Parts: sequence; C-alpha cells; structure tokens
Amino acid sequence: MLQTVDTGKRSIQAYRGVAPDAVLDDLLHVAESLRGSRIVQINATPYGGGVSELLRSAVPLLNDLGIIVDWKVISGDNAFFEVTKKIHNALQGAKTGLTEEEKAIYTRNTESNARNFEENYDFVVIHDPQPAGMLSFHGKGSARWAWRCHIDTAKPNPEVWEFLRGFLNGYDAAIFTMREFTPPDLPVENIEIIPPAIDPLSPKNMALADGMARQILAWIGIELGGPLVTQVSRFDPWKDPLGVIAAYRLVRREIPNLQLVLAGSMALDDPECWGIYREIMKETEDDPLIHLFTNLTGVGNIEINAFQRLSDVVVQKSIREGFGLVVSEALWKGTPVVAGNAGGIPLQMPEGVGGMLVESVEECAQAILDLFHDPKRAEELATRGKERVRDYFLLPRLLLNELSLLLALAKEPPSLAVVPEIRRDPVCGMAVEESAISLKRNDKIYLFCSEQCRTRFSIQPERYLVSRSQ
Ligand code: UDP
Repeated sequence: MLQTVDTGKRSIQAYRGVAPDAVLDDLLHVAESLRGSRIVQINATPYGGGVSELLRSAVPLLNDLGIIVDWKVISGDNAFFEVTKKIHNALQGAKTGLTEEEKAIYTRNTESNARNFEENYDFVVIHDPQPAGMLSFHGKGSARWAWRCHIDTAKPNPEVWEFLRGFLNGYDAAIFTMREFTPPDLPVENIEIIPPAIDPLSPKNMALADGMARQILAWIGIELGGPLVTQVSRFDPWKDPLGVIAAYRLVRREIPNLQLVLAGSMALDDPECWGIYREIMKETEDDPLIHLFTNLTGVGNIEINAFQRLSDVVVQKSIREGFGLVVSEALWKGTPVVAGNAGGIPLQMPEGVGGMLVESVEECAQAILDLFHDPKRAEELATRGKERVRDYFLLPRLLLNELSLLLALAKEPPSLAVVPEIRRDPVCGMAVEESAISLKRNDKIYLFCSEQCRTRFSIQPERYLVSRSQ
C-alpha cells in the first residue's frame, strides 16, 4: 500500500469571519453534493514545499465537509528522486534532458507505486510530475483522475516534456495555477485554472502577537534591534538565494545594520537542496548579520510566522515560480514583499498591491531600499496585499474551486455506487469477499479488508456511512 499521511482534524466553521462568507457558503453547498465521495490526494512528500503545505490543511478540512479524503505519498529510491527533480527542473525550462537509464528509473518506480496503490476511490488527484505516470500503469478503474500541476510548465524542455506527456493520456482533467502554464500539446482536454491558497488559521499564518513573535525569534538567536529582511524558500536555484544575498549586500551599503534571514526547508523529494545549502553556508559563514535556518534545525511553522511578521520586508526573488505561497503568507501578515516577476507571483501582487516586482539583483536591492525610505507607501502596499489575499488566496476558495471541478467531472453519480455497499470495505473502498472480517451494526453486516479498517469504522461509523447525494 502507498503510505498514508495523517493530518488530524480541522473545522470549516472556524473560517467564519476570516475567509469571505460567500465563499464559505458556496463551499458548503458544493461539498454537500460530494458528501460521502472518496478522494485520494497523491504527492511525493509529506513535508517540505508548497504541495505538502496545502495538503496538510486541505485534507482534514475536506473530511470535515463530509467527504472521505486520504493523502498518500509515493515512495522511491534516491535515484528516482534525483530523476524527478531533473524532470521538475526541465519542465520549468532547464536544458538538461534525461538519459535512457533515467527514464527507465522513472518508469520502474512509477510502475511499483501504481502496483502499491490498492484502494478504490471516486476521485484520484495526482500532484506534480513525480507520481504523474501512475495512471498509465494503474488504469482508471471507476475513478476520475485529475493531474494537479503546481509548477510553471509554459516552456518545458521539449524532450523531457515529450517523455512525461506520454504518461498523461487518460486524465479526466489537468489543473494549472495560471493559463499561461499550460504546456504545448497537453493530451488532456479538460483544463482547469486554480491558483493555490494559504491556510489563515495554521500555526504558520495565524495571528501572533508581536511580543510573542519577538520572544520566538530571540529564542532562536535573532535579536531584533534593527531592520530585518527575510526570504523563506526551499534551497533551490529557481528561488535564487545567492541573488538575494547579492541584493542584500547592495542594500547594506546604505543600511549597515540590516540583518538577513534565509530560512529554507529540506524536502524529502528534493536531493538538490543539500548542495545549495552548502553553497549558501560558504557564501555567508563570515557574515554575522546573515542568518541561515532550516526545518531540520528546529525552524518550523511558528518561527516562519514570526519571521514573516516581524521582517520589514519579505523577499522572494524567484526566477521561476509555480505560485509562491510564501508571498501570500507574508502579505497576510501585513508585511510588504519584494519578489521576482515570475510565475504566480504577479497574480498575488498586481501593480500597486503588496509590494514590488523585480527582474534583477539591482532592482531587488533598489526596491528594498525604496520600501525602507518610504514606510508609509510600504504600509499602504502591504495593506492592499493583505486585502487581496483575503479575497482570493485563502484555503476555502481553493477547496471550492477544486470540489466544483470534481463535481463537474462526476457527471453521473460516482460509479462506485453501483457496487453493493456490503461487498466493499466502507473505510478504504476496496472490494472484499463475503468471508472478509465483518462487523454487524443496526442489523447490517459490513465487511473489511483488515482489522485496522474495522477499528476505524467502529470508532466513527457515521463518517463512512453518509450516503452520496446525486
Ligand atoms: N517553508 C517552510 N520552511 C522553510 C521554507 C519554506 O515552512 O524553511 C514553506 C513556506 O512557508 C511555504 C512552502 O514551504 O508554505 C513553500 O511553498 P512555495 O509555494 O512558496 O514554494 P515551493 O516550495 O512549493 O516551490
């Protein structure tokens, strides 16, 4: 079986008064039509990067809406993740292609993941290129399959795109952050544009009093006597951490006590991050005003929250970007942002909103200086940025868009309904024999593939027995 990621519980009602009411009302309405449906979200890592960030909040909320949603991650050896990072880079336009052996590594691991995907669902949502090939080995069964691509695939490396493209036949829909990201000759007819969103109630984004935020930063060794700029990103060449350092050094000629924080996470599916981390360490080791942190040295969500909140300016100097959740995260905290004019970033920061878009190290340095020199303007930009995030980039809107798409895909009642309920494990959805482990409830016998499923059912049977509405 593919590994399941546990996510705990969340309440959609907690978002009242935070996200727009109209969005919440629509979301409840659409979710009602999918009540009892089974969705699986499959990606490559349970932590590190925007996709896991999204799923950690989205999955428990969808469950709270009465939909049965699991989050599963694929597995693979080091060689597989080296190859998938190469594919990721190539889809964003990197020149390096794949050798025949690398293609074979992708294919072999994908086939094995497809074999390990045993349960049945009404909807399968596959995130990014790493698990994208599973459909072609697994087959659709009775489910609708959607490929959710989070990266900028507007101008992919043609050879690598040709390779991946071959695995995308059969998807019922493909989802991109922006229309411009749609790659050439996509073999999927139904294309949906859905930008991601942040969870305003997560420890990373929730309200945090200034005094508490200061204490948190002091605890990890940051004394906030003077100005601070921060970039929070995976250690990835497309996020241009060395460009950030170069821009910071230009700014420091005018603001000598300026501190820089570079906080980066190591993702399970990103072997490239270690090399970049070492490079940054070498570049900054003699500079006591530059602070380097990672998730592996204890900088988690609450610390990121404090950095984004207490920085005078947040930088996101991406050269290529899918969406850049970190931009919305900073804007939500009322902090102005200087960011690369790439991918989904301008969507979050149109002209006059949130901060300034830049194309080079020099522009980045100048924009940071401008914001320091004109704090009133910086505040106005940040205020407008926060409003924009509230209107467009909070989680309930994302869930509403995604569920509306799934509902449209299920033009008819989910086909699992034609299988007699009694022959299907109500927890994992797998077909089961009459002789399987059973449990009697209200004169009805339910069958399970394992003791684990039976226990889950007996603790909370109503979760699995809601009837699917049409
Ligand atoms: N992140 C984090 N700690 C770090 C670096 C990044 O928690 O040290 C989080 C960040 O707050 C954001 C996500 O990782 O929620 C990165 O998402 P984004 O869309 O900005 O970029 P991606 O990594 O998906 O390219």
